[in-house]
Amino acid sequence: MFDVAIIGAGIAGSAVARQLSRYDLKIVVLEKGVEVCQGTTKANSAIVHGGFDAKEGTLKAKLNVLGCKMYPSICKELSVEYKNNGSLVLAFNENDMKHIHELYERGLKNGAKDIEIINGEKVKEIEPNINDDVVGALWCKSSGIVCPFNLNIALMENAITNGVKLRLESEVLDIKKIEDNCFEIKTKKEIIKSKYIINAAGVYSDKINYLIGGNEFYIIPRKGEYKVLDKSEGYKASHTLFTCPTEKGKGVLVTKTVHGNLLVGPNAKVVEKDDITTSKSGLKEIMDGGRKSIPNIDFSKTITSFAGVRATPNTGDFMIFKSKVAKGFINVAGIESPGLASAPAIALYVEDLLKQIIHEDNKKLELNKSFNPIRLKNKAFMEMSIEEQKEILSKDERYKTIICRCENITEGEIVDAINRPCGAKTVDGVKRRVRPGMGRCQGGFCGPKVVEILARELNITPQEVLKDYENSKMLVGKAKEVRGETVEI
Ligand SMILES: Cc1cc2nc3c(=O)[nH]c(=O)nc-3n(C[C@H](O)[C@H](O)[C@H](O)COP(=O)(O)OP(=O)(O)OC[C@H]3O[C@@H](n4cnc5c(N)ncnc54)[C@H](O)[C@@H]3O)c2cc1C
Repeated sequence: MFDVAIIGAGIAGSAVARQLSRYDLKIVVLEKGVEVCQGTTKANSAIVHGGFDAKEGTLKAKLNVLGCKMYPSICKELSVEYKNNGSLVLAFNENDMKHIHELYERGLKNGAKDIEIINGEKVKEIEPNINDDVVGALWCKSSGIVCPFNLNIALMENAITNGVKLRLESEVLDIKKIEDNCFEIKTKKEIIKSKYIINAAGVYSDKINYLIGGNEFYIIPRKGEYKVLDKSEGYKASHTLFTCPTEKGKGVLVTKTVHGNLLVGPNAKVVEKDDITTSKSGLKEIMDGGRKSIPNIDFSKTITSFAGVRATPNTGDFMIFKSKVAKGFINVAGIESPGLASAPAIALYVEDLLKQIIHEDNKKLELNKSFNPIRLKNKAFMEMSIEEQKEILSKDERYKTIICRCENITEGEIVDAINRPCGAKTVDGVKRRVRPGMGRCQGGFCGPKVVEILARELNITPQEVLKDYENSKMLVGKAKEVRGETVEI
């Protein structure tokens, strides 16, 4: 029997798993995907918000401000890309100025760090490509950007190293409370028992809560579409640029990513839970929105577009609470934005809730004496110094072979991404970890080589290699066989 079963291996479930691995607990994470980071965490703006936006007194406001503070150190511990680039909420008229003054006041009340209001001239000085019509901005210097995939993966990898078990392709289908202190969880693969359950199932968190008879909230899935532009456009924004909401919508942001691309989006549309399609009209909306901040964005340099689905709760705030319906069950639900920014603080909050439950049972949590918060990972080969490159080449010749020419990724890095704890299982899993396929050609050239490496390292046939999800095979057979021609051997 497990002590804790966490449902969902997105940023919330993974941050909680790592936090709880500090204790002497038997923990299992049940994830329906073939990989971790296949839900909302793989498709968002990747902003570590400063904490001025959420309404004062909400859990969102509290956890965002604390999470933002925790980011630099947690990313350092886990060797994850994070940049403290700061953000600007741009004002183009009097109404906008009124809005940024409100945000400023709210930020102060929330405890957001390093916020100030600046005039249009100052904005132009720090962001030379900005729309000339800008009249002022709210500058939040504590805000940052992160690689959400690598943080999600690193949190889970560190949790695994500290004893957590990860079960992939383990969709939770049913939950029964069989004794006062025991849940029986039926997954697609097996039945497991656990004393406590943490529901971090993203857009499906309402469905998981219904399984135990809870109905305190429901999720309204809201899609946001994006365009990713080539690194040659990345210089056009150094801060994350937000616009003020209008009657037409919340505004589109423009930001550099930690890897130097330009990201423009999102819009917002209520959809089905799994709808991550992009549309011509949606992409037009975000291009128009992006040009409001930076008029000379060259959208012909778009390398890909994508969409993510927000798990918006009907209650308006994160739904992180101990269930009254089933003792020992904790919801970590409705984690819409700023869920990524808040994740480290969400983990602390859940740790506290679990401690309360365990205390009510007259028990105490013992520390995991061998807990190690550090996860080491080499820099990208191309970012290493000559000495570092020489050293790694002397140990492993595979760092000599470049597989992805757009991003300059070596075979050694891909093999490492596959063979680490919580290693890549799919082509997109490799792409999220070490970036082959993230460049201009979007995998057109390196894709087949990544398939070959995955097949070799996972000891499967190339036909069994998946792109991302279950059944998403990259290859269907040999060309001649597919065409019905005789294959000579
Ligand atoms: C358009 C958009 C922009 C955003 N921008 C930002 C931003 O800039 N900054 C910020 O802080 N936040 C942002 N967010 C919010 C942020 O992305 C989310 O808060 C965060 O990723 C939610 O993480 P999660 O772990 O709760 O959910 P997810 O990442 O969705 O993880 C849930 C996991 O549960 C699994 N699961 C579901 N059902 C089951 C089941 N039955 N059994 C087992 N596993 C199951 C899923 O496969 C998934 O892996 C944005 C979101 C969107 C959509």
